[in-house]
Amino acid sequence: MHLPKAELHLHIEGTLEPELAFALAERNGVTLPYATTEELRAAYQFDDLQSFLDLYYALMAVLRTEDDFAELADAYLARAAAQGVRHAEIFFDPQAHTARGVPIGTVIEGLGRALERSEETHGVSTQLILCFLRDLSAESALGTLDAAKPYLHRISAVGLDSAEVGHPPAKFREVYEAATALGLRKVAHAGEEGPPEYIREALDILGVERVDHGLRCMEDPELVARLVADRVPLTLCPLSNVRLRTVDKLTDHPLPAMLAAGLHCTVNSDDPAYFGGYAGDNFDAVRDALALDPEQLRTLARNSFEAAFLDHDEERRARYLAEVEAYAFD
Ligand SMILES: [Zn+2]
Repeated sequence: MHLPKAELHLHIEGTLEPELAFALAERNGVTLPYATTEELRAAYQFDDLQSFLDLYYALMAVLRTEDDFAELADAYLARAAAQGVRHAEIFFDPQAHTARGVPIGTVIEGLGRALERSEETHGVSTQLILCFLRDLSAESALGTLDAAKPYLHRISAVGLDSAEVGHPPAKFREVYEAATALGLRKVAHAGEEGPPEYIREALDILGVERVDHGLRCMEDPELVARLVADRVPLTLCPLSNVRLRTVDKLTDHPLPAMLAAGLHCTVNSDDPAYFGGYAGDNFDAVRDALALDPEQLRTLARNSFEAAFLDHDEERRARYLAEVEAYAFD
């Protein structure tokens, strides 16, 4: 769907398509445990979180140079633009790269190179969000933020991702305080697999402005009331929820109930190469499975621009919102 939208929940490492993985593997002399792109494509049909994470981290081995990261981001931006994305706030996981010997500067400068020419090349404005891997230690997160200091001009926010259960937001209080002191915005994954309490912690202890996923707030009416009253944006990823079994099937997705409750929902793609679709594909899928009408879809798109970190450029936000209102559904 070409409805203009902002993508606010997108892991750049999760946009690695099999064809690019093979091309980078060849260029960097990395041997992948798959003979062909078809074989690798078949491996993308994993059926649980652990098999997804195993493949996801194994394939990162092909990303080594600034050029690799620039190509990865450029390929994503081209696909996103073709599906109506006008603004993208992109997550990256520096620890997944520094752990295998790739310097954080290589990652940030490579991504940054693609992002800074994105508006001209693809018509997509961008921001970069540095995410901490929550299954690693709080000290590792602090060290990562410290290592990112020379590159802060390229980074607008911090986030928290990877395996949620057993790694509550409170574990990262200190690094979020440090990020605040550096003037960074704050988001965090919470309430995808973890309980509603993790959403409260993300808000109260980390001070996040948006909650990534946040689905499980629906188990806690008081929390829903608070999220509605404070207009806290939730970055939902419907196709991801089905692939990782957060919901059994898309027709069971709580999105309609969440919209009806007045929650500030947005629709995003998470790790689109692995979860069966980019932002527009996610819009198409929820329209079809949940029978969303054009005004509900327009609300989701409007919400995405309202939730974007565009406070420094309200003129741009207003322009994007006008595009949403002007969009004609066919
Ligand atoms: Zn995510």
